[in-house]
Amino acid sequence: MNYELKYSKLGNNLKSSLIRELLKYASVPNAISFGGGVPDPETFPRHELSKIAAEVIENEYSYVLQYSTTEGDLELAKQMLNLLDKIYGINGLDETNIMFTTGSQQALELAGKVFLDEESIAIVENPFYLGAASAFRMRFSKFVSVSLEDDGMNVEVLEKKLKELDEKGEIKKVKFIYVIPNFHNPAGATLSLEKRKRIIELAEKYDLLIIEDDPYGLLRFEGEHLPSLFKLAGKERVILLNTFSKILAPGLRIGAVIADKEIVRKFVLAKQGTDLCSPALTQRIAARYLERYDLIEQITPTIKLYKSKRDTMIKAFEEYFSDIKGIKWIYPSGGLFTWVTLPEGFDTLEMFEIAKKKLVFYIPGQAFTPDDSKSPSMRMSFCLPPHEKIIEGVKRLKEVILEYGRN
Ligand code: PMP
Repeated sequence: MNYELKYSKLGNNLKSSLIRELLKYASVPNAISFGGGVPDPETFPRHELSKIAAEVIENEYSYVLQYSTTEGDLELAKQMLNLLDKIYGINGLDETNIMFTTGSQQALELAGKVFLDEESIAIVENPFYLGAASAFRMRFSKFVSVSLEDDGMNVEVLEKKLKELDEKGEIKKVKFIYVIPNFHNPAGATLSLEKRKRIIELAEKYDLLIIEDDPYGLLRFEGEHLPSLFKLAGKERVILLNTFSKILAPGLRIGAVIADKEIVRKFVLAKQGTDLCSPALTQRIAARYLERYDLIEQITPTIKLYKSKRDTMIKAFEEYFSDIKGIKWIYPSGGLFTWVTLPEGFDTLEMFEIAKKKLVFYIPGQAFTPDDSKSPSMRMSFCLPPHEKIIEGVKRLKEVILEYGRN
């Protein structure tokens, strides 16, 4: 049968992501991969979680093994409100401002459903987080992209593009500005305080929403936590997306939407048609975990581990890359990623063929360009490989760069 005739427009457009295709090679023996953006499993509090899981299944079975509400677990909402106050200094919210999702990936997909039509425009960053791109692409809307600098979105470009859209009479089509403020995926960059304020001013001027996606904010290695856009601009303007994936365990699949209650209500209605509810079991496990343990204390060793791996990677860059003319990298002050940019003329997707031979893997920047254009950059994740592999991997990568540069 010709399935294409049966598929929807969306069905026909669904393609395997570049990352998935490329990372197939990364599992061969002796490969060193900086590709995957997943946390180190040794950071998962498995003993604590398994004890709590057994207890809640035994004692709270009528709740945890049952369907839950679409909004999610009220016990977890209570804990989340505490955490929002503790992490972001956000208070004055109640449980009507929170909804739990199956990972924040689902929140991105719901944001697409709730806000975007084919004629809509979303302002996104370049590089653009791939998960958000695949969620928003399902709506066939247009992206207007704004380049990232070491301290986040280029706000002059943002201003210029918004002005142009306004002059063309298209500003009403712009639904939101999507930003990852801390330790960007893929770019590692953190949005400076001045730029946070400027983005808010522009959003206010043109009456736009901001979607602030912050999975990594708590994983800060040094320096002061910067105020969230949500804290600075308030819930009328900003929808904050959060997740337990990088600070507890991604397998729990718990994300959170924090927003004005009218918007939360809409997201709830959209979620009903998606999965009715997220698992009560994992939400209650997380709620009991947060009740018993101080999350900030618990993640201190994780932060230390990632910081030391970041240091190893940056040191290896300094040692092996310093004689490669025109190369630069982002020095991330938290999170899981750094972003290496090679001189003009390099195409890291094409270079991947050499990397495959030398058994070192990264994610080519092209996976994150909003329009699938070639890129001289690559995402390098430092959280998984052991220190000695980080050094060996950077050494191999230098050979890859030199070999590609010679051709
Ligand atoms: N947003 C960003 C910026 C991410 O990096 C990730 C995870 N890679 C997600 C959202 C989704 O995370 P999850 O669905 O596991 O909560």
